[in-house]
Amino acid sequence: MVKILRYVKPNGLESYGLIINNFVIDRSDVEVMLGLKLPEDIVSFISGAYLNMILEKIGKLDFKQGFELESLKLLAPIPDPPKILCLGLNYIDHAEEQHKTPPDEPIIFIKPKTSIAGPFDDIYVPSDYVQQLDYEGELAVIIGKLGKRISASKALEYVFGYTVFNDLSARDIQAKDKQWTRGKSLDQFAPMGPWIVTRDEVENPYDLKIITKVNDEVRQNSSTSKMVHKIDRIIEVLSKGMMLEPGDIIATGTPSGVGVFMKPEPKFLKHGDIVEITIEKIGTIRNRIIFT
Ligand code: MG
Repeated sequence: MVKILRYVKPNGLESYGLIINNFVIDRSDVEVMLGLKLPEDIVSFISGAYLNMILEKIGKLDFKQGFELESLKLLAPIPDPPKILCLGLNYIDHAEEQHKTPPDEPIIFIKPKTSIAGPFDDIYVPSDYVQQLDYEGELAVIIGKLGKRISASKALEYVFGYTVFNDLSARDIQAKDKQWTRGKSLDQFAPMGPWIVTRDEVENPYDLKIITKVNDEVRQNSSTSKMVHKIDRIIEVLSKGMMLEPGDIIATGTPSGVGVFMKPEPKFLKHGDIVEITIEKIGTIRNRIIFT
C-alpha cells in the first residue's frame, strides 16, 4: 500500500514523500536509497513515471527507515492545482434530501486554489461575513496526465489517485448569490488529504463508505455507490471542452446529511466544532472551525 503525501519536516522545510511499510520516505531519501532523483514538486512527480520506477526497485529492499508519520505536520497533497473542479448534486441521497431530481449532465463549479487547506488545519472563518457554515464530505480524484476528449472507457487511466475533501460552504452567501462560487470559495474552504491513495489501491471507487462527523456526531453516513455521475463519465464530459491537467482535483459531490437540510432545523457549524471526514480505504481529515 503506497500513499503519497506532503508535509513539513521536523527541520521546518516542506517536502513530499511516500508512506511505505508505515514509514514516510522523503523525496530526498529516495535519491539516496535508490539513486533516483525525484522532481521538487509533487505534480511533476505525479505526471512522471516515477512511482512505477520506485515500486520496481523497492521490492528488492528491506525498507524500514524514514520519518515517523506522527513527527510530521501534514499538508494538502496538491498545493497548487491547475483547477479544482467540483460536482453539485451528484449523490442520489443528497438530491432526495432537497427534493430534487439528479441532473442528467454533471453540474460543475470551480473552487480557487486559495481555498485549499491542510487535512488537520484549523479553519478560520470571518464571522462578519459567514453565518451559515456547512460541511460536505467528498471523494476527490487527482488527475495524473494531460488529456482532452477522454472517453469514459479510458477515463480511469487519467486518474492518479484519490483523497478526502471537504467542500466547505457558506449557505447564507450561496442563497444570496443564487449560485455557488462566492460562498464556496473562501480561503481554507477546501481542506483535503491526508494523502493520495493511488488508483490501483482502490479496486472499486464506487463502493466506499463516506462518513462525516461533527464533534463525534455522525452527520453523513453514505457510500460512493450513491454517486449519480461516476468518475469515468465525469471525466468524459468535462474533458470534451476542457483540458484536464496533472494535479487537477475533481471533488465528486457530497451525500445526504449536510447541515442545511437537517430536520427539524438546520445545524450549521459553530466556533470550536471539529469536522471529521473518513472515506474507507482513503483516510480521515479533521479540521477545527474557528470563527474570527
Ligand atoms: Mg460539494
